[in-house]
Amino acid sequence: MVIGGDAAGMSAASQARRMRGPDELEIVAFERGHFSSYSACGIPYWVGGEVAGRDELIARTPEEHRERSIDLRMRTEVTELDVAGGRVRSRELDTGTEVWTSYDKLVIATGARPVRPRIPGIDAPGVHGVQTLDDGQALLDSLAATQGRRAVVVGAGYIGVEMAEALIRRGYEVTVVNRGPEPMSTLDPDMGRLVHESMTGMDITMVDDAEVTKILTGDDGRARAVATTSDEYPADVVVLGIGVRPETSLARSAGLPLGEHGGLLTDLAMRVRGHENIWAGGDCVEVLDLVSGRERHIALGTHANKHGQVIGTNAGGGYATFPGVVGTAVSKVCDLEIARTGLREKDARRAGLQYVSATIESTSRAGYYPGAAPMTVKMIAERRTGRLLGVQIVGREGAAKRVDIAAVALTAGMTVDQMTALDLGYAPPFSPVWDPILVAARKSSAAVRRG
Ligand SMILES: Cc1cc2nc3c(=O)[nH]c(=O)nc-3n(C[C@H](O)[C@H](O)[C@H](O)COP(=O)(O)OP(=O)(O)OC[C@H]3O[C@@H](n4cnc5c(N)ncnc54)[C@H](O)[C@@H]3O)c2cc1C
Repeated sequence: MVIGGDAAGMSAASQARRMRGPDELEIVAFERGHFSSYSACGIPYWVGGEVAGRDELIARTPEEHRERSIDLRMRTEVTELDVAGGRVRSRELDTGTEVWTSYDKLVIATGARPVRPRIPGIDAPGVHGVQTLDDGQALLDSLAATQGRRAVVVGAGYIGVEMAEALIRRGYEVTVVNRGPEPMSTLDPDMGRLVHESMTGMDITMVDDAEVTKILTGDDGRARAVATTSDEYPADVVVLGIGVRPETSLARSAGLPLGEHGGLLTDLAMRVRGHENIWAGGDCVEVLDLVSGRERHIALGTHANKHGQVIGTNAGGGYATFPGVVGTAVSKVCDLEIARTGLREKDARRAGLQYVSATIESTSRAGYYPGAAPMTVKMIAERRTGRLLGVQIVGREGAAKRVDIAAVALTAGMTVDQMTALDLGYAPPFSPVWDPILVAARKSSAAVRRG
């Protein structure tokens, strides 16, 4: 039995089905929404008009799952989990019908819920989240219904900056209101500053260090401005991208173990700790950060799909583990690419690690090759040992996915000195003869030697 019909849940169901045929394993899945196996990651590009339509974001429809003998029950919410009795209570949202269903093996893949500050006006028409395909459609309908052209995005994490791009593409004047000192708090502030400057250069109004206090509404009840601790910003539409929390209310009520970030705690096989026949994965769990050794909550589709694969293998009678993450993430706003992996300076300090950092400027291609674009790479290494701790990259085309080199180096536990000799590919259209990652590794290695 699977609760949650998106990335983690349906990956688990599909993998379990690959392992065991319908005669050996019955699979029932519950999804309270209208869609299964959809890509929330694509919503900003759908809203921005780069992806033609909603259906392109659906990897597998409920009918396609059912063809694979997965009994996927849509618009059906699991309202109670009885662990001792091995059963769940579900409610068909359109009819109100409630039933208890027993399970032998349970997969919890309930995802995350967006943070929605409890401020006046937050539920007014014209204020939109972007968590689900229904949210995306509601936002597009709202954009079509309004005459005005001013949008305020609340939150400057990756969803906030991606939505800023989407609204720019739609021809809106965009203001991004951000609680922190710089956008993209997953970067160090010096790298966040580069994002701020670039976004300002795209005619996006960046408001930092501002807490939203109220959504002001017009006579028609619709949002007309966002009030913050510093000022008021007119808005014909407001988009919220303030972050998410694990959706673990069912698990909490059932007494399952939760970590300090509110996510379910699992072992390496993604089995809920202390529960032989319950697995959990995706945005509702905490993951082990392989660099700091701590549990973190990182809501990313890339993890959710891998968790599902591991869970499906194990629930299907095989064996697989998910070792943990190094914290790799990429995003973009217009032509600016943003990437990070591993620890920021403050993460290293919090983990009690002493470190050196080095920042370099380079280009995406050989300087003489057409289209060479600037790129800033920041590298953090442990003092004395030189172990790579983290990398952040801000630049234009070709910048973001370079972070994958660092993700591999982190996973392998390499030192920055070892990285200087990495045999990376080179030809002028792809990189300078010294790739920016190699230049950063050399500078970091020198900083380690200096102590
Ligand atoms: C705008 C946006 C952009 C993103 N971009 C990226 C990106 O570029 N890269 C990346 O890696 N990640 C990205 N993500 C994150 C990614 O979409 C999520 O990490 C991923 O969807 C998590 O999958 P999941 O299955 O754990 O949870 P979800 O996708 O949230 O699915 C959980 C499902 O469970 C259902 N559910 C919950 N409770 C119940 C219940 N009690 N009964 C029945 N059903 C229930 C929900 O309706 C939901 O469909 C983005 C997310 C958003 C919102």
